[in-house]
Amino acid sequence: MDESKKEEIVSVEPESEVKENTIDQKNAEDKKDEPIDFLLRIVPEHRKVSREVTEGDIERVIEEAKVLFNICYSQNGPYNGALAMAHPQIDDKDPLRFFVTASAELIINPVIVRRTKTTIDSVEGCYTYPSLPPLKTVQRSNKIEVEYQTIEEDGKLSRVSYKGVSGKEAKVWQHEIGHLDAVYIYDNN
Ligand SMILES: [Zn+2]
Repeated sequence: MDESKKEEIVSVEPESEVKENTIDQKNAEDKKDEPIDFLLRIVPEHRKVSREVTEGDIERVIEEAKVLFNICYSQNGPYNGALAMAHPQIDDKDPLRFFVTASAELIINPVIVRRTKTTIDSVEGCYTYPSLPPLKTVQRSNKIEVEYQTIEEDGKLSRVSYKGVSGKEAKVWQHEIGHLDAVYIYDNN
C-alpha cells in the first residue's frame, strides 16, 4: 500500500461521518415541519370507565378536544371523516366523559335517560380496533333521550341540556357513550 492510498483511506472515513451527520440533521429539520402524528395518541382497548367532567377539567377538555378534532376533522387527520370520537380513545390513564362529533359538537357528561326498547341492526366500525375487520353489526335503540353538557362561550361548563336523538345520530351517541363506559362493539352484546 503506498502512502498516497493510505492518505486516501484516512480521509474517506471522516468524510462519511460528516455525511451521516448531515443526513441526521436534515431528518431532524424535516420532522420539525411535519404535523404532529395524532395517530400516536390513539390508545388500545382498555377497561377504564371515564370519569365525569367537572369545572376544574375544562382546560384539559378544550386541549384534548382539539386533538380529537384534529384526528377526525382536520384535512390531514388520520381518521378524517369519522362520525365521532371519544376521549377514552386517546387517554387510558384519566379518560373523561366527553366526545366530539362530525357536526363539531363537544358533548360532555352525556347520559341516556330514555331509550326505545326495541332495537335495530347497526353496522359500525371503531378506530380503537384498526386491525380488526372494519364493520360489525350491533343492536341499538332507534330513539334515545339524552342529557348532556357542553362548554359555554365564557369557558364554563353549561347547564344540563336535554334532547331526543334518533336514527344515525342515536347510533353514534350509543357507540360513543359505550366508549365512556369502556364497552366496545366487539364485546358480546
Ligand atoms: Zn369506537
